[in-house]
Amino acid sequence: MTSILRQATKEDLPQGTRSCIFCAGRPLTREHVWPKWLSAELQQHGFTLDRPDGAPHQVRLVGITADRQHAHQEVETVGGAKLLGDLVARSVCGPCNNGWMSALEDSAKPSLLALIRGTDATFEQEALVSLATWAVKTAILYQSQDPASLAWTAEQLQRFRVAGRPPALTTVSLARWTDKTQQGPHSMGGAYGGVGRPNRFGVTVLLVGYVAITVRAATDTRYFGQLATLGKEWSTIWTPVPSQLTWRAHRRPALLQDVERLTSGFAAPDGP
Ligand SMILES: [Zn+2]
Repeated sequence: MTSILRQATKEDLPQGTRSCIFCAGRPLTREHVWPKWLSAELQQHGFTLDRPDGAPHQVRLVGITADRQHAHQEVETVGGAKLLGDLVARSVCGPCNNGWMSALEDSAKPSLLALIRGTDATFEQEALVSLATWAVKTAILYQSQDPASLAWTAEQLQRFRVAGRPPALTTVSLARWTDKTQQGPHSMGGAYGGVGRPNRFGVTVLLVGYVAITVRAATDTRYFGQLATLGKEWSTIWTPVPSQLTWRAHRRPALLQDVERLTSGFAAPDGP
């Protein structure tokens, strides 16, 4: 029997990585998931870019099939790299990479730097939108190492490039992070195949310096409501986008167990 994950890939996602996931253009280029400036910044401030357990930074896939009696979950891990700076995705074209993606990188950089360094800061709405869009772009790139883990459909990815805003049923939240040895992406994504066309979902937590950013998404309203809820230490910046966010360097941090809870597994929605 075909895995639910592979089945979902076949139906609604770009086949393999032969053409750009955002514009269908070719040829593809190698794009660093963790931008070089970000790795350099982290290294300079004493953050470690490999995992303390020696494991690679991997994408976790969860497939769920459900019938009236029970839900069956399958899990696999794919891709990854030992060092954050070595995480490379081959899923976008040069014009996307050097065009709108690069511009997005530039617009989010000032806010990211403040969060990474853990200083007090106030962010205006426009800065929060850039930050949220950057986080979604980074989560997409990371998860695109294996298209089966992507929480968005091919159509949503193409619209993301044009709109320059996160797709529907996508939410982005921030929390303070204090563990300098735990950096990089934690991710879980996959498909839920209740009836007919599988629904897709995904949670990516980006641990970047002194901030943790979660991106949660699903293609189906019911499944979106099923995504694990966040504790009080998280501030949601998309959606709704607050008119302003005051960030205090001493606010209560999220813990590794929170990140693991968010990215470990799911219950299937009730009923088939
Ligand atoms: Zn492209």
